[in-house]
Amino acid sequence: PERFEATPLAPPDSIFKLTAAYKTDTHPNKINLGVGAYRDDDSKPWVLPVVKKATQLLLNDPTVDHEYLPITGLPEYTAAAARLVFGKDSPVIAEERVASVQTISGTGANHLGALFLSKFYGWNEKRVYLSDPTWVNHHAIFPQAGIPAATYPYYDPQTIGLAFPAFIDALKNAPPRSVFLLHACAHNPTGVDPTHEQWGAVADVMLAKGHYAFFDSAYQGFASGDLEGDAWAVREFVRRNVPLLVCQSFAKNAGLYGERIGALHIVAPSKEGAARIKSQLSVLARAEISNPPAHGARLMSLILNDEELFEEWKGDIRTMAGRIIDMRKELHRLLTEELKTPGNWDHIVNQIGMFRYVGRARSHGPWGPDVGVSGGRAGVG
Ligand code: PLP
Repeated sequence: PERFEATPLAPPDSIFKLTAAYKTDTHPNKINLGVGAYRDDDSKPWVLPVVKKATQLLLNDPTVDHEYLPITGLPEYTAAAARLVFGKDSPVIAEERVASVQTISGTGANHLGALFLSKFYGWNEKRVYLSDPTWVNHHAIFPQAGIPAATYPYYDPQTIGLAFPAFIDALKNAPPRSVFLLHACAHNPTGVDPTHEQWGAVADVMLAKGHYAFFDSAYQGFASGDLEGDAWAVREFVRRNVPLLVCQSFAKNAGLYGERIGALHIVAPSKEGAARIKSQLSVLARAEISNPPAHGARLMSLILNDEELFEEWKGDIRTMAGRIIDMRKELHRLLTEELKTPGNWDHIVNQIGMFRYVGRARSHGPWGPDVGVSGGRAGVG
């Protein structure tokens, strides 16, 4: 008998299926609103000028070879990546309390973080709380690593904003020491982020309940154009001593999607604790990938560690974020001033990042209260 007869046919990934269909479509004005990747004014992928420059430097460097990297990655890359997210003067860095490991982009960081928690977290009830909605892959990654997923209220379709009171209630009602996944900035797919004050309230409850913050940071700098501002929530949680880890990706903010360059940073209470955590992350990484890929790590190490390249990168980030912000303003202007579309469309400019929940007109237009594009999204990553 056929060995894999009982293997059911899985449906294709909807976003990547759409991309394949888009590629074969011959319509001259086709636009792909599915995949979460930046496009320039000609709807083309954009290779950052600073990445081109760094690539050239690597090509001309006679010391570059194709040997294996250490299991936990290129040390000068992971150290610079940690400084980028926590801030170079962060006490957790000075005290050497961060266990940092290079990962297969943000997805690999989520996976390794989930696998580590699955094996080593002091669980009350083994479960992760994901925002409703969230990046679809979160729902696959955690169960795959043996952690069942539950959801907490996040998006309120009534206000096309944050369901803040319900979010706080969920934090209060979860068993002590629960793990909550939080999007560091530019929430995918809603584009709705808590305000600083709301983040503060979330941190208060998390501390009171002993919860753990699993930060997913896929858009630092890409959201507002400001690397520091987009790291605010993570740094505020660190400042308040909320126990946490951070999954970091350079797919979007450096346009290195296919290079698969990311990092997992786990903050420990002590230097010795960080060393124990890192030793176990190394064991997990060894069994899965042995060693991470070198090229993206070398590129990011150059860009993060060279002052001139770093400044240039910040300019490239402002170019991308600026264009996204301008697109929001233009859509808002077209809907309101030009097309005089009934209702309030301010959420289009208030949301942040690449993703947009269109929502429905809030004041009742000619369609009545419940008609319109509800929860339509402009991309899902
Ligand atoms: N996390 C979130 C919230 C995302 O939106 C994405 C990409 O869309 C990722 C993680 C992972 O991206 P990558 O694995 O390409 O770094």
